[in-house]
Amino acid sequence: MPTFDDSDLGPQSPLQKTASRDSQRHQRIPSRHGSLAVGSYGANLAIPDDGEGPIEVPATRSSIADAQAYMHSLSLSPSMRDRRGSRNSFGAALPIPRSKRRSRLSSVHYLGETEQRPGLPPVQPSREILAAQVQDLAHEKVRAAKDMAFVFDIDGVLVHGDRLIPEGKRVLEILNGDNQLGIKIPHIFLTNGSGKPEAARVDQLSKILHSPISTDQFIQSHTPMRALAEYYKTVLVVGGEGYKCREVAEEYGFQDIIVPNDIVAWDPTIAPYRVFTEEERKTARPRDFSKINIEAIMVFSDSRDYATDMQIIVDLLRSENGRLGTIAKDPVSQRIPIYFSQGDLLCPTEHPIPRMSQGAFRIGLEAMYKALTGVDLERVVYGKPELATYKYADEVLASWMEEIHNDQRLPSNIYMIGDNPASDIIGGNMYGWNTCLVRTGVFQGGENDEENPASFGVFANVLEAVQAAMRKELGQDFKFNFDERINPVLHGNSMSAIE
Ligand SMILES: [Mg+2]
Repeated sequence: MPTFDDSDLGPQSPLQKTASRDSQRHQRIPSRHGSLAVGSYGANLAIPDDGEGPIEVPATRSSIADAQAYMHSLSLSPSMRDRRGSRNSFGAALPIPRSKRRSRLSSVHYLGETEQRPGLPPVQPSREILAAQVQDLAHEKVRAAKDMAFVFDIDGVLVHGDRLIPEGKRVLEILNGDNQLGIKIPHIFLTNGSGKPEAARVDQLSKILHSPISTDQFIQSHTPMRALAEYYKTVLVVGGEGYKCREVAEEYGFQDIIVPNDIVAWDPTIAPYRVFTEEERKTARPRDFSKINIEAIMVFSDSRDYATDMQIIVDLLRSENGRLGTIAKDPVSQRIPIYFSQGDLLCPTEHPIPRMSQGAFRIGLEAMYKALTGVDLERVVYGKPELATYKYADEVLASWMEEIHNDQRLPSNIYMIGDNPASDIIGGNMYGWNTCLVRTGVFQGGENDEENPASFGVFANVLEAVQAAMRKELGQDFKFNFDERINPVLHGNSMSAIE
């Protein structure tokens, strides 16, 4: 199975901090908490090696990036064959947060009493005791159950927008303990979705799926970008509805957040074709941006106004160290960094032909920047299938293991379940996970995807995939419900039913 190159992963385990030594090769300039290093490809991000900071995910410079000017084929036809190097391949390293430092985001969204398990009896404390007794008698199966985990894509797997995929609800019941052992199977959610705070997203998902979901199990495309709040104070945040991404950035701890509307309200001539409403003017926060250095650009979600956002981003990328109204003499050394939360070219919507997404917006910017300056735009991309996102998923999984099993350890057998071969499957395959492709979303093909085949197989829906994986790890006769009548203490014979 193809994997990320060894140079990407380094010799250490996924939970260990990697490659901070590499960053020391770069010349450092001081920043707020850490340092920014200026390497041969512009402002590379270096992580201080204090054992406490974020984890650095080293990036490689791919041969494709070397060979092609700016629109390399990875962005246009994502294929496992072409994707041996990461698309973060312009020399910039990506920080991701340590999942344990989660106080700002941590919250569990349990359903109200009346919403719990409709159609099923309420969970009684006696059930936990019963499950503990069952588990005491089935050591091997319990060990196997704690050594497996699921990573779910959301849209096209568990839900379609706001609509439940019925098998998704059943899957979460099974993984939350309605199984032969009455045991919780660790699972997290990994989506390229964006544009809302994690808590709001999780709340919505909990309601649709009728299961409690914690923000600590949940990764959307910009979640790992909260690590960047340690490095930049004043940032431009782009994309999303209204001011929602400003809210997201505030939650991540960014201190000084500017959105394009603030800049248009300060100087409407910056975006000559923009019709700026009175309402927008009232809600914007204009300042004299000719006196402010913006340190980095963060595209958190899809742009709602390509013309204005692209103009402002290109202005900033061409400026002297992020000062609007200036043009840098050297476009590379004075350029501020730009980060994208994900790289999907297209996104399925209710429109019959998929709509352009952040990847298309980025390619447009790259082409404009190249045409205006003659140099390639160095940029960093998070989200599936980028390595940083999978590294972060490991952190979140290990931390979730501690939450449910009091054992901060990464399970050995991880199953990614997704509907999109070009992001869910390719990324999972490269990261060494078992991958399951479901037919409830993007994938409409034959036996398996030709470019990025799922390693564990193709399934009609998420329930079939989860059951197949659990049978593989826990035995073909494993039962997908918890029998409340079993009492292994009083009825010793029933042991045969659970071993
Ligand atoms: Mg999907």
